[in-house]
Amino acid sequence: MKKSFTNKEFNEILSILSNDYDIYAPITLPYKGTFSDTDSIKYGKISNIEEINLNNKSHYSAKEILLPITQTLFYFTEKEFIKPKIKTKKSLIFLRSCDLHSVNRVENIYLHNKYSDEYYKEVRDKVKFIVMGCPGQGWDSCFCASMGTNKTEMYNIGVKFQDNKIFVDVKDQDFKEVFNNGVDSEFEMEFVTSNKEVVTIPERINEDEVINFEMWRDYDRCIACGRCNFVCPTCTCFTMQDIFYKDNEKNGERRRVWASCHVDGFTTMAGGHEFRKKTGDRMRFKVLHKISDYKKRFGVQMCTGCGRCEDICPEYISYINCINKLAKKLGDKND
Ligand code: SF4
Ligand code: SF4
Repeated sequence: MKKSFTNKEFNEILSILSNDYDIYAPITLPYKGTFSDTDSIKYGKISNIEEINLNNKSHYSAKEILLPITQTLFYFTEKEFIKPKIKTKKSLIFLRSCDLHSVNRVENIYLHNKYSDEYYKEVRDKVKFIVMGCPGQGWDSCFCASMGTNKTEMYNIGVKFQDNKIFVDVKDQDFKEVFNNGVDSEFEMEFVTSNKEVVTIPERINEDEVINFEMWRDYDRCIACGRCNFVCPTCTCFTMQDIFYKDNEKNGERRRVWASCHVDGFTTMAGGHEFRKKTGDRMRFKVLHKISDYKKRFGVQMCTGCGRCEDICPEYISYINCINKLAKKLGDKND
C-alpha cells in the first residue's frame, strides 16, 4: 500500500502509533560531539518527524535499542535469582537500509548461532522498522553498495521525503489501517546505487597466510580505545559483570555489557595469557571477522558498509583503506 501525507498528517499518525510503540529515530544532541562545539547524532525517542535528523548519518546506530549497552540479566540473593521485568511496549525504529541489514547480522549471532538468546529475542519480537531512503551516494564514508546492503525490501514501512511530503510504503498488515487515509501515490524508494567509496572484498582469504602480513604493523598505532566497535551496528561482543550491593554484599545483579575486541583485556585468560597484545593484531582480528570468518558461518559478510568506524577513529585509521590494501595484496584489486 503506497500513500503520501503532509508532515502534519504524518505526525498525527505518529501520535496514534505512540500509544502502542516507543518511536525511535536518529536525533541531534547539540554540543554532545567528540570535539568542542560539535553535535552528536544518535538514537532517541521522538514524537514528531521534525525531530529526526534526516541530513546526516547518525554517529551511533539503532543497535543499542535492541541490545542495551548494559543489561541486567538477573538479580540474585543468597537463595534465589529473578529476571528483571521486560518492557511491554513495542518499538518502532526509523533507520537506513544498511542498518536494517545490520539487524540481520546481529540476529544471526543472537538468534541463529546454535542457541537463541532469550533476552535478545524478547526485545526483538517487539520491534518493527521504518526504512528511510538515502540521498544521492549516501555520505562520505558509506560503502553499502560494495557490501550489497544499499537496498532492502525487508521493512515494515518504507518512507521517502520529497517536496514537503512523506511517501509511505506500508508492507506490514498491522499498520495498514492507521495509514489508510493518505493519498494513493506511486513512488519508488530512494536507495543509493553507488557510493563515493568503493571497497573490494578479497575473494579468497587464506587466514594462515594473511595473519603474517607485514601490513598489520601499520595498525599498531591503534590506541585501543574501542570506539570503532561501539559505533559498529554489527559488533556483538559482550562481557559479564557481577555487581555486589554495598548494603548486603551477598545480593547483587549480573549484567552483560558491550565489549570491544580492540581494548586491553579482551583476550586475557587465567594466568595473564593474552592472544593479541599488539593493537595491529586486534585490527587484523576485527577485519577478518567482518569480511571473512563470519561469512563462512552465516553466508553473508558481517560488515554492512556503514562507514561509522571510518568516521570515529581518533587515529584516523581507515578501515576502508585496510580492506582495499588487503585486496590488493591478495591480487583482487589493481591500483
Ligand atoms: S563499516 Fe565499520 S562500523 Fe560499519 S558495519 Fe562495517 S565494520 Fe561495522
Ligand atoms: S582502530 Fe581507531 S577507533 Fe578502533 S580502537 Fe583503534 S584507535 Fe580506537
